[in-house]
Amino acid sequence: MKKVLSAILAAAVMCTSMLALAGCGGSKQESKKESAAASDSAASKGELHMATNAAFEPYEYKEGGEIVGIDAEIAKAICDKLGYTLVIDDMDFDAIITAVTSGKADFGMAGMTVTDERKQSVDFTDSYTTAIQSIIVNDGEDKVKSAEDLKKASVGVQLGTTGDIYVSDFEKDGAKIERFNKGADAVLALTQKKVDAVVIDNEPAKKFVEQNKGTKILDEPFENEDYAICLKKGSELTEQFNKALKELKDDGTVKKIIDKYIKA
Ligand code: GLN
Repeated sequence: MKKVLSAILAAAVMCTSMLALAGCGGSKQESKKESAAASDSAASKGELHMATNAAFEPYEYKEGGEIVGIDAEIAKAICDKLGYTLVIDDMDFDAIITAVTSGKADFGMAGMTVTDERKQSVDFTDSYTTAIQSIIVNDGEDKVKSAEDLKKASVGVQLGTTGDIYVSDFEKDGAKIERFNKGADAVLALTQKKVDAVVIDNEPAKKFVEQNKGTKILDEPFENEDYAICLKKGSELTEQFNKALKELKDDGTVKKIIDKYIKA
């Protein structure tokens, strides 16, 4: 179903660009009307598709059928500033970079950490916030008391995330890694004692612990990271995004959005 929808969407996007290229007055008006309806902004330059995984509260998650969160709001502020209509496409985290490199999405924003490996396939904007990898364990279990202990444990991670990458290094030491498409499924496996620990970003970790009685976050922080938006290599949007992001940081908008979702 998702694939069919994506195909229809891709075809629609292609048609729109072809019509735009053809420069036909009628179709231009048509696309203007559509954008205006979607964004209430008659001046919209068109849509920008953001690839994300909306299961990562507080950065992106679903609330009443709508995708909300820090990333959704910062992306909207950037698109508003640049005159684009934001469209958010939800997918597995592991599919985001491919969506961006293939042009299916214009950018990816998903609490995504800047890594050298990812930089080989995409460009990143300047960072808009920092994060830490946290370790979640069951209360009263002492098998994993530190990052070092992960080397002898079974560890749940979200497929393709930095948590997955860091912990995969421990496989040679004897760690057993269970990879899930959603952080929530990794945490479920923890509560069912199918894994000894879960490694995931600190803010989603706090949400998961709030929602799952009997779990806790270890005090020891694991890895520090920078989050940024990824775009197709060489995209001219990157510079525009950086400029908009700088303005939104300077005027306090980014901080206001983060403070709305993360209470000190
Ligand atoms: N920050 C982690 C990463 O970039 C996890 C992101 C996520 O799961 N949405 O790999």
